[in-house]
Amino acid sequence: MDEIVKAVSNDGFVSISAISSAELTERARLIHNSSPVVTAALGRTLAAASIIGSALKKKGASLTVRINGGGPVGSIIVVSDHEGNVRGYAQNPAADLPKNAVGKLDVGGVVGKNGMLSVIKDFGEGEPYTGSAELVSGEIAEDFAAYFASSEQIPSVCALGVLVGRDCSVLAAGGYLIRLLPGAPDGVIDKLERNVDAAGTVTNMLVEGDAQMLIRSVMSGFSPKILERRVVAYKCSCSRERVLSAVSGLGKNEIEDMMIKSEPIEVTCQFCDMLYTFLPVELGMVK
Ligand code: ZN
Repeated sequence: MDEIVKAVSNDGFVSISAISSAELTERARLIHNSSPVVTAALGRTLAAASIIGSALKKKGASLTVRINGGGPVGSIIVVSDHEGNVRGYAQNPAADLPKNAVGKLDVGGVVGKNGMLSVIKDFGEGEPYTGSAELVSGEIAEDFAAYFASSEQIPSVCALGVLVGRDCSVLAAGGYLIRLLPGAPDGVIDKLERNVDAAGTVTNMLVEGDAQMLIRSVMSGFSPKILERRVVAYKCSCSRERVLSAVSGLGKNEIEDMMIKSEPIEVTCQFCDMLYTFLPVELGMVK
């Protein structure tokens, strides 16, 4: 079971959210049949979006993350609901690259770093909030930290990881996001960074432990208080109506062609493996 755990330091200046997300990442891999390096890129983005989305609070609010760094994977799109349940896809799920110089999946290479990370928060009323930042490395965690620094002016530390097995399945996934609240004493970030280095990689910790263990090790010396634990999952919110309205984006001529053929039209949801079948007459009702 995947979960997000939220905690705050004893002095209240450091907040942390950690996620273990192996199950939802594996679900994404099975839906999209992604290559190991794309599974890692998409899985890191799903973990970060879930953490940020789970802080939206307002029912019906949603968060969309879009990353495009000009690499072979193309765009990565992830959507979270206000509870941290996520869905997502990569434009080219089969994109692949050899491992990088240190023998790791080359997420930075497949994503690229010539482009932007954007975050759209839609609260269901009023104008959605949109923020974006230039990508730093395409490794995703660094890119989110840069986004928080530049777009939301919050000093943060972010670590994300996905471990993929020989059979391409997800063995471990997750990460954490630490944010410093206003007035945090000098030196806090240095102390956190030392903890982060000492703790080792997220995936090493998650193979053995869970999100709470991530918090205990990264917040060592800060006496973290657990505020909340929440189960999260891969969840799509598609429906016949939504998919039909997406079809309307195809353009008039294409829709008319489909109607003339008078055969049922099959459309698969981009985010999940749900297949919808429409009769030509239903397409005629598309505005
Ligand atoms: Zn769906």
